[in-house]
Amino acid sequence: MTGVLVVTGGSRGIGAAVCRAAAARGYDVVVNYASDEAAARDVVGELTGVRAVAVGADVSEADDVARLFDAAAALGPLVGLVNNAGVTGNTPGRLDEHEPEVVRRVLDVNVTGVFLCAREAVRRMSTRYGGRGGAIVNVSSTAAHRGSPGEWVPYAASKAAVETMTLGLAKEVAAEGIRVNAVAPGLVHTDLHAAAGMPDRPDRLAAVIPMGRAGRPEEIAEGVVWLLSPAASFVTGAVLPISGGF
Ligand code: NAP
Repeated sequence: MTGVLVVTGGSRGIGAAVCRAAAARGYDVVVNYASDEAAARDVVGELTGVRAVAVGADVSEADDVARLFDAAAALGPLVGLVNNAGVTGNTPGRLDEHEPEVVRRVLDVNVTGVFLCAREAVRRMSTRYGGRGGAIVNVSSTAAHRGSPGEWVPYAASKAAVETMTLGLAKEVAAEGIRVNAVAPGLVHTDLHAAAGMPDRPDRLAAVIPMGRAGRPEEIAEGVVWLLSPAASFVTGAVLPISGGF
């Protein structure tokens, strides 16, 4: 089932790869970004043969999220949401070193943002509200299972919340035509590591990844578009690790 797909944080990294993979499968794509409009427009420019639009919105702000989904509705009926936008806080360290405002921001974006976007998507896709059903894929992290000691425990904990939300929401809307799943990437080559002052992190940790390397955004996107697709028609409440065994 193709139609309109909202990808939060679609302007860079894993989100941009999801936008490209989804467009290649015929989805019209709403490319969300927080601040880098030029990057989002570049992604839109790459998505040929489908309709695509860049929409700036902070996923942690309910008004922004409503505006994001209104923009999607202007393209056509919503069939999917990829809750990809996420932040680490950019200040790696022990839990007792994290500033309160950084912890709040990580939880605001990674947890509240996922809730707000899922809420809008359910209101538009659920048969309970007259919708035609659809699929939601949340982007967690294998950090949820490792805890990320010494780097970013708040981030890891935020992703555990995303996974629990995935399970609960999947059961709430299973009979309303909506499947809800998550992917849990391991280490992936994106700007996220450099933003936290550790540009070499994916290569530095390659030795502890069973497959011996970090992943590429395209490898995460393949799992996301599979979970969105009818090929995953009996899959809901699942968390798919895409991590090279990490
Ligand atoms: P990235 O390269 O840093 O890109 C982050 C994207 O999210 C950008 O498009 C950014 O937009 C957007 N964004 C940030 N805050 C936002 C907000 N408040 N509202 C809307 N959009 C916002 O990140 P990435 O590595 O691709 O990560 C994508 C997802 O995968 C995240 O959820 C991350 O936790 C998860 N993940 C990543 C890895 C990894 O190793 N890279 C591993 C596991 C899980 P602007 O550029 O406009 O700010």
